[in-house]
Amino acid sequence: MRSHLLNDTTAEQYRRSVTQGVERVAAKLATTDRPFTGVTVDALAPLIDAVDLDRPLGDTTAALDELEDVYLRDAIYFHHPRYLAHLNCPVVIPAVLGEAVLSAVNSSLDTWDQSAGGTLIERKLIDWTTRRIGLGPAADGVFTSGGTQSNLQALLLAREEAKPGRDGRADLTKLRVFASEVSHFSVKKSAKLLGLGPDAVVSIPVDHDKRLQTVALAHELARCTEAGLVPMAVVATAGTTDFGSIDPLPEIAELCQRYGAWMHVDGAYGCGLLASLKYRDRIDGIERADSVTVDYHKSFFQPVSSSAVLVRDAATLRHATYHAEYLNPRRMVEERIPNQVDKSLQTTRRFDALKLWMTLRVMGADGIGQLFDEVCDLAAEGWKLLAADPRYDVVVEPSLSTLVFRYVPASVTDPAEIDRANLYARKALFASGDAVVAGTKVAGRHYLKFTLLNPETTTADISAVLDLIAGHAEQYLGESLDRAC
Ligand SMILES: *Cc1c(COP(=O)(O)O)cnc(C)c1O
Repeated sequence: MRSHLLNDTTAEQYRRSVTQGVERVAAKLATTDRPFTGVTVDALAPLIDAVDLDRPLGDTTAALDELEDVYLRDAIYFHHPRYLAHLNCPVVIPAVLGEAVLSAVNSSLDTWDQSAGGTLIERKLIDWTTRRIGLGPAADGVFTSGGTQSNLQALLLAREEAKPGRDGRADLTKLRVFASEVSHFSVKKSAKLLGLGPDAVVSIPVDHDKRLQTVALAHELARCTEAGLVPMAVVATAGTTDFGSIDPLPEIAELCQRYGAWMHVDGAYGCGLLASLKYRDRIDGIERADSVTVDYHKSFFQPVSSSAVLVRDAATLRHATYHAEYLNPRRMVEERIPNQVDKSLQTTRRFDALKLWMTLRVMGADGIGQLFDEVCDLAAEGWKLLAADPRYDVVVEPSLSTLVFRYVPASVTDPAEIDRANLYARKALFASGDAVVAGTKVAGRHYLKFTLLNPETTTADISAVLDLIAGHAEQYLGESLDRAC
């Protein structure tokens, strides 16, 4: 069994084994002609059920053959140009290389004595990101598992900074967090985890472009303080998950300043603009934030996980600091030993930063920005196609790379029937595997969604998928007419 341990004597087996895996994936990528096979849960579950985990195959080739059946054959492939659904990007090769290196060396970024150079590399990338944002000389941050954790940590810091009373046992039910009605659900989840009251998150309506209405925000902030409540934080979303819309950051910054509220910018999606060569101005005002969430695994073309939370004032990260004698005793702070665990919600933590490092060292930030600009341009073209297409109703001209639309045949007037046709079209398309699209609700009605993150997707792909959707929707409506007769 020792032959499976990665060490000085097994270097050759390591090379062979990983190369075999890489060959399988490379062959798969080269021959995948659809983003999905359309496999059903019922078809796939028995294959996985049948695997006896207590009877190992004992052989890499056999395990990879089995993996073909239980995973590789039917996985959802984000690199395919007709995968248009969620915020998943195709990944860049330098980052995948970084992933291979980081898992083999297996540094843990909690303490200097478990990572050495990894700690400094992560710190340099955090500084690079805060400079791109413009957070100023006292800024800091830490890599996290994703936007959900980044938002949670940001709101933890905001809560600790806002706690009314000095005894540290303040009335948390008085704290209020303001976020638009289309902000990410992790804001509400965080409020719950942070022990805030059930009414803690105040939902602010959005305008026609799905941007937080600042007049409504000002009104709610005033109401909150008049009622003796504490405006703990405003979450501005720079790139909503559903629409890619960007809240008016400068106006929100003004209001935060006026009411002493922590300004958190959830840039999980829109952070790609930090590298943009053309559209950086769309997130102007982000430099005024107290904290920012970025998901490199969404718009920097990085493999999951790769995210960070950045803060204007490094001192606020102390709210996540606990010392353990065995790990990061207080004296290490005096000795200036850099222990990232002092800033993190996690303890053992992956060296995800290496992926971004390799990306920047091979491609450079402009390379990433150019790819993100391309998908933003593609979305603008897609919007024109949809706006000119009488079969479709499209909402919101894109600020990033998302298109939300709905099939609306002239012959059908019942909106509920149109809902069902759109829901059916999404399901039928998924089952066919020809393309994968997402869906959401707008004003109570079912819409479909393209999240464009693949620069290889063309306007021809968009047109073709729109035809496929229309075909499925028409089939549904035709059959439902038959059913009615
Ligand atoms: C995706 C997303 C999140 C959550 O990030 P994860 O990396 O999935 O945890 C938070 N906010 C916004 C706006 C997002 O789009």
